[in-house]
Amino acid sequence: MRNKDADSLYIHIPFCTKLCGYCDFPKLLGSEKWGEAYITALFLEIDSYNIGKMSTVYIGGGTPTSLNDDLFEKLIRKSKEHLKDGGEFTIEANPDSLSEKKIRIMAEYSVNRVSLGVQSSHEYRLREMGRSHSFEEARNAVELLRKNGIFNINIDLIYGLKGETLEELKEDLSAFIELDTPHISTYCLSVSPGTLFYNKKYNEPGEEESADQYELILSTLRGVGYRRYEVSNFAKDGCFSKHNLTYWKDNRYYGVGLGASGYLKDTRYDNTRNLDKYLRGQYIEKKEEIDPKSEYEYYLLTNLRLEEGIDLEEFEKEFSYTLLNKKEIKEMIESNLLKIENNRLSATDKGMMILDRILLNLF
Ligand code: SF4
Repeated sequence: MRNKDADSLYIHIPFCTKLCGYCDFPKLLGSEKWGEAYITALFLEIDSYNIGKMSTVYIGGGTPTSLNDDLFEKLIRKSKEHLKDGGEFTIEANPDSLSEKKIRIMAEYSVNRVSLGVQSSHEYRLREMGRSHSFEEARNAVELLRKNGIFNINIDLIYGLKGETLEELKEDLSAFIELDTPHISTYCLSVSPGTLFYNKKYNEPGEEESADQYELILSTLRGVGYRRYEVSNFAKDGCFSKHNLTYWKDNRYYGVGLGASGYLKDTRYDNTRNLDKYLRGQYIEKKEEIDPKSEYEYYLLTNLRLEEGIDLEEFEKEFSYTLLNKKEIKEMIESNLLKIENNRLSATDKGMMILDRILLNLF
């Protein structure tokens, strides 16, 4: 039986200095006004669980580095109390709010991984997305992290912007590769209701266009030694995100903070996105009990995102079900969308390109 104890903690800091046009994460302006009250409520929420020491702690947002230095240090100190010795401790940051002082605080409290929102190497694209920094600032942030001993760095890239050519994407990829970070996450633009892009009727890329862009990303990053270990995530050996693997392997985790989600034992939960409620201690908005059928579905949905796919023997032991008996799976193996290697079921390169459709086809 799979272990149902959480070994990861996600902490959400919703504040940003500027709101990006495409973003549908729980985020808001005003860390000066609400930061102190938020951190107080957050610590109460953390203490309301019996969180021991975790193998991974991840502080995401929003922009955690937009907090002032005092609150930032308080947050890091508190978070570290829940980190096992040698655990992976990640913080998301934006280049413009990542000062040397903040990096020193991180290094002092064992933060060993930083995920930087870079998104593009083109200044006009950064402006179009409403980003609050230049590419030059991103480059400086990477250098500053390394100077202070933090080498495990991820940079995010967004592709599929309006009119983006393969040439432009090639330039982005070259500039990102030059930063020489061991991890690159890539996101195809999606325009969700409620975002500024949605209100402005900004178009998502067409299927063919995004498939060509994805292929270019895959061949370019593979060509310089990155491994695509998850459909959108590329890393050098030994630098996979342990925290994010928790989600992709469908393992349990605590999630705290405004709009955070968690998965404990047989319950998934979503926290409120309403700051007033959150500050009043009404943290959880929705709970979902996971029955064996949903667990099986979640397990497939998440693990097939991984290049290593699913161990068929383990799957059968866990869910008493032989995946290869499923008609849709057999058909997709025949169509070269899924494959079996070393008794593992995974998506082929062709399958990874249309993973969402494959997953929909499974249920
Ligand atoms: S993308 Fe990041 S920085 Fe931009 S609004 Fe969203 S959370 Fe804030």
